[in-house]
Amino acid sequence: MSFPSSKGGFNSRSPLHVIYNKLVFMVFEKKFKTRRVTELGKKNLRVLKKDMEKYKVLAKELGSDDAVIIPAKAVKFDERVRLKCRVPMCHLYGSSPNCPPNTPDVETMKKTMKKYRWALLVKYDVPCMDDFVDKEKWLKGHEKHQRKIHDIISALESIAFNDGYYFAVGFSAGGCKTALCSGMVCQFLDSGRCRFPLKSRPSMEGVGIDAYDLAAKAGWEIYPVASRYSETGSIRCAVSMGILFIN
Ligand code: SF4
Repeated sequence: MSFPSSKGGFNSRSPLHVIYNKLVFMVFEKKFKTRRVTELGKKNLRVLKKDMEKYKVLAKELGSDDAVIIPAKAVKFDERVRLKCRVPMCHLYGSSPNCPPNTPDVETMKKTMKKYRWALLVKYDVPCMDDFVDKEKWLKGHEKHQRKIHDIISALESIAFNDGYYFAVGFSAGGCKTALCSGMVCQFLDSGRCRFPLKSRPSMEGVGIDAYDLAAKAGWEIYPVASRYSETGSIRCAVSMGILFIN
C-alpha cells in the first residue's frame, strides 16, 4: 500500500526562508471560526474530505514540507516499536508522562485508534542533517526540529477540535523533555504542572506507531540514524514526522 504524496509548498531551505518564516508565524497567529458541534457520525463525507484538505494545506503553511491524508486503518501499531524505546535504553525513557513506559500501551492504542477514520501524516525535512546525524551535535541539535512538529501538530489538533472534530488527536516526534523543555527536569513529574500543557504529547513511536512504515508508504526518503556505523554520505536526509487523527 502506498499513499499519494503532495507536491509543492515552501521549502524551508530556499533563499526566501526569512519571508517564509514570517508567513509561518502569521499562520500560527491566525484565528479561525469555531463551528457548532454536530453529531460526528452524521458528518457529511464531503465536508470531512474538504476539512482534511484544509488541514493538509495548513500543515504546509505552518511549516511542514509534505502532508498526506491516509485512512486511519493504514497506521500500524506494533509492540516492537515500544520495545525499541527500551532496548537499547533511550535517554528519554520514563523522563516525562509522554515517553514509555508512561504512554498508553500498544493494546490500548490499537483498540482506541480503530475508532478513527482518517489521519494526516506530516513531514518536516530537517534543513541541517548534522542536527540528527552528527554524534556530537545531535543531542542539542535535534530539539528544535522536533519542537517544530510539536508546534504544527498541536496547532492542527486545536483547529480541527474547533471545527467540531472533538476527538481530534495528534502525535509528535521525539520526547517533550528535550523538544519542549530543552532537557530541564520534567515539571509534570516534579510538581504535576506541565510547562506546555496543550502542546506536549507523546511521539508517534512512543505510542507504538510504526513511523518508518508510514514514511515508506508515503514515498518519503527516510533513513535509520545510527551514524556510528554508517558509511559517510549514506544517510542522505533526516526528517521529523507527526500525525493527526480525525473523527
Ligand atoms: S513539563 Fe516538559 S517534559 Fe514534562 S510533560 Fe510538560 S513538556 Fe513534557
